[in-house]
Amino acid sequence: MAIPTEMTPFQAVVYYFDQACDRLGVNDEIRALMCTPDREVRVELPVRMDDGGLQVFIGYRIQHNNARGPYKGGVRYHPEADEEEVRALASLMTWKTALVDIPFGGAKGGIQCDPRSMSSRELQTMTRRFTHSICQIIGVNRDVPAPDVGTNAQTMAWMMAAYSEENGYSPGVVTGKPMELGGSPGRNEATGKGVSLMVREAAEGFQIPLRDATVVVQGFGNVGSWAAKYLDQMGCRIIAVSDVSGGVRNGGGLDLDGLQAHLDSTGGVFGFSGGDAVTNEELLALECDFLVPAALGGAIHSGNAANINARLVVEGANHPVTPGAEAVLTQRGIPCLPDLLVNAGGVTVSYFEWAQNIQRFPWDLERVNKELEDILVRAYRAVEEKAKAENITFRESAFAIAVERVVRAVELQGLP
Ligand code: NAD
Repeated sequence: MAIPTEMTPFQAVVYYFDQACDRLGVNDEIRALMCTPDREVRVELPVRMDDGGLQVFIGYRIQHNNARGPYKGGVRYHPEADEEEVRALASLMTWKTALVDIPFGGAKGGIQCDPRSMSSRELQTMTRRFTHSICQIIGVNRDVPAPDVGTNAQTMAWMMAAYSEENGYSPGVVTGKPMELGGSPGRNEATGKGVSLMVREAAEGFQIPLRDATVVVQGFGNVGSWAAKYLDQMGCRIIAVSDVSGGVRNGGGLDLDGLQAHLDSTGGVFGFSGGDAVTNEELLALECDFLVPAALGGAIHSGNAANINARLVVEGANHPVTPGAEAVLTQRGIPCLPDLLVNAGGVTVSYFEWAQNIQRFPWDLERVNKELEDILVRAYRAVEEKAKAENITFRESAFAIAVERVVRAVELQGLP
């Protein structure tokens, strides 16, 4: 297999989309239509900061495709949340919702800012301005935002409030809300839970005993911390984790409760006394059964793929493995479970939340978890079956299934 040169995040999604189109024989007209987003909105967000100065933030909402349902995708607050990154994530959402077969399209939003350096009042003002600026293009049946890196349930509460000021009480306009405002039980931990379920399925498929399997997790935020906790409960040994502050390792298994307490009191995992310090680069190279990159995109690239020492790479984050890195891993016999499958638990429970909001009928946690597991396991089995039958990677299989579903929906709706 030729090693693709490094690509931007959007080029990488288009690369996988094109591969799937080649495999499926999709014609050029449909390809051109589905490759780029339906709509890209860029807004200026002037915010009066606490020091009295005016700061102008730039926000984006990019709607990729809505052939299978309303646009759906998170809103990211991060200094590097630029148009290119948001476009890639929007496109990935289209394929993710199609792969797990929930009735949504794909979108993503972002504001270039550093939320950690902003006060709650500044964040609320910026979030409300952003929501009013995109009010015309979002809605329960149009586009349903959710949290992502740098945003949380509080951010969604502000978005819902600002949207409802213009449109009447509309809990279904965003997901990932606090429970008191129509959030779903299980939403907060859903992505990490989904990651653990995909590891469990893969352990069976690849014949890696789950009990005492060694796991390394990069990123100890929402996705990484919940994934680690569920995998720990399943009997795996979490031998190293990291976040932006650095990493910690303990070959005998980390005490996750102690680590969480350390994180809560210091703001990072670095310096935890229950293990030895490691850098993020060292952590990625540790020998383990499952390596779960759950921080940001591009963590495993052509430059470090040769150092990976895992039996399986499980993409908790969105596009943490570049196409060049995946080619190196494939050559080295290290399979990669792709993001659109592995981290789809979050959007799946977002779908349950949206359904509960529309019906004004809450579900209990047991029902949420059961339906989540059914959907994810079904998707895993479909991806595995196709990958084996056609001797292709799990990512190629996942993209082929997803692209075929969206193409069919586009064709059925007719082209002008
Ligand atoms: P988060 O902000 O809660 O956590 C991110 C974690 O990554 C933090 O621990 C942070 O310290 C760490 N990190 C950031 N930069 C790092 C670096 N350079 N090196 C090492 N660690 C670093 O975000 P999250 O919600 O957990 O999202 C993580 C990833 O999962 C993102 O790619 C996101 O798009 C994806 N994702 C999230 C969800 C969800 O429901 N939260 C759903 C699907 C996909």
